[in-house]
Formats: sequence, C-alpha cells, structure tokens
Amino acid sequence: MDVPRGVFNDYSSFGNVTTLAEAFNNFNQLPQLSFVEKLWGTYYYYINNDLFATGLLIFINHEINYFGRCIPWMVIDNIPFFRKWKIQETKVPSNREQWECMKSVLTSHFLVEVFPIWFFHPLCAKLGIAFSVPFPAWTTIAKHLAIFFILEDAWHYWLHRGLHYGVFYKYIHKQHHRYAAPFGLAAEYAHPIEVMLLGFGTVGIPIVYCLITGNLHLFTINLWVALRLFQAIDAHSGYEFPWSLHHFLPFWAGADHHDEHHHHFIGSYASSFRWWDFFLNTEAGPIAKKKRESRMKTRAEMHQKKVQ
Ligand SMILES: [Zn+2]
Ligand SMILES: [Zn+2]
Repeated sequence: MDVPRGVFNDYSSFGNVTTLAEAFNNFNQLPQLSFVEKLWGTYYYYINNDLFATGLLIFINHEINYFGRCIPWMVIDNIPFFRKWKIQETKVPSNREQWECMKSVLTSHFLVEVFPIWFFHPLCAKLGIAFSVPFPAWTTIAKHLAIFFILEDAWHYWLHRGLHYGVFYKYIHKQHHRYAAPFGLAAEYAHPIEVMLLGFGTVGIPIVYCLITGNLHLFTINLWVALRLFQAIDAHSGYEFPWSLHHFLPFWAGADHHDEHHHHFIGSYASSFRWWDFFLNTEAGPIAKKKRESRMKTRAEMHQKKVQ
C-alpha cells in the first residue's frame, strides 16, 4: 500500500500491510499510543480514504449509539418489574408504536442526516479539526465536552422554546410531540427542519468552536455525539429511578425534566441542564409550579421587608 495517510506522522517502523490485522500489528508496536488510539489509527490507515473513513465513522457511531441505547429501554418497557419507575405509569408504548417510530427515525437517519455526515470530513480538513493519533490530553477532551454540553443546552433551550411558538409548533415541532409519554426511540422522532435546527446545537457548535479556537479533535466530536445521544435518549426514556443522575447532580435534567415537557406540552425546554428553566421560570408541571410560586412568595416577602 502507498502511504498518503494523515492519521499518524511517522510510519518508519511500519512493515508491509495488506490485511487489517497487519495494520493493527504495526500500530500495536507503538508504546506511546493507548489501545483506543491504536484502533483509531488502524481504522484510518487501513481504509486509506479519510473522507470515507470519517463519514462512515460518524454514521456508525450515530447508529450504534442510538439503537444501542434505545434497545435496552425497549426491553425495559416489556418487563413489568420496571413499571414502578415509569413516570407516566399507564402509558407504556406498544411494540407497534415503537416499530412505527423506529421506521420513521431510520428513514430520517438515511435521508436527512446522511448528507451532513458525508460532508463532514472536507469541513474538518478546511477548519483544521485534527483526526491524527495521539489524541489530545484527556483534560482537553473533558474541557471541550463540558463546553459543548453547556452551549448546546443554551442553544436547545432557546430554539426549542421558539419552536413552541404558534406556526413553528403547528408546522414543525408538533411531530415530536406526537408522544405525550415519550420513550427512548422518540428522541429523534421529529420534523426534518427540527432535526436540522436542533441538530446544529450538536454538530454546529463544535464546528464554530473550532473556527474560533482552531483546537479540536475528531475523537472529541465523536465522543460528544455519543454522550449527547445518550443524554437525549435517556431524557425520553420515561423512567425515573432512585439512582437517576439528577439525584446526584441536581442541575442535570434527565427524564424527569423532559417527561414533564411532553406531558404538559409547555415548559422545561432545555436539554441537559435545569438552570435555564429554573432561572427563567419555565419549569413544567404542577410540582415545579408550586416551587416557583413559593419562590416568588418568599422573594415578594423579602422585598416587602426591605421596603418597610
Ligand atoms: Zn417541545
Ligand atoms: Zn422530546
């Protein structure tokens, strides 16, 4: 094989490569690389077409994580033992409903999302998004993930709140609200325009971030996409467990937060965190309403005391 590959900078120790195992063997001899970096290097080196490799990687990452995370929720929906943790207890989705939803989500994946995915590598090359090994330090990766979570949440809050406005709701967002009691698969059940608009928060924010800072790795983007999928699917799962993350991280949104949104069709617009809805008084549901009213009462009483 000739070697035009940009995934690594020094192939001097490499032997002849004709099979995938031989490619991995070469990377496996490099002690400075972690196991994941070796796999990543092998993948790009063996495919030897960076554009195809990136497109395929993002597509596979999306499909495996989406369905890999949805299937356990579908299984849980069929086990009565878990019913006691179902938020809207009586509304367990039927297998037929889940199947209809899956067909629609798959069509959308292949028709709508496949194009931006295939154009991603040329964009990476233009913006200087790195795809080589070794990866950046884990602290840099963690910092980037935290930034994307915070920014996407803000984008999602305002866009989603806007999508509840009159015509936008009627012609675009209504489709996502078909299920008043959501389930994992329904996370990406939405109008193509909504997929584009809200999807920008997931894909566009890292792109803009790299445009400004010039510092981002494709591995971080893949990790971010996987985590964001987990977040979105879990938020739609319809289950609230004693061990759900928001019990330990009170600002984490989770299923409890988003289920209220689907149930009441209004409020709780953010994706990952609770702070936007809390500070802008848009939390959904009767419990949130009570808490909000009691907060307002305390504030009014304090104000009264100050005036006196
Ligand atoms: Zn909504
Ligand atoms: Zn939803």
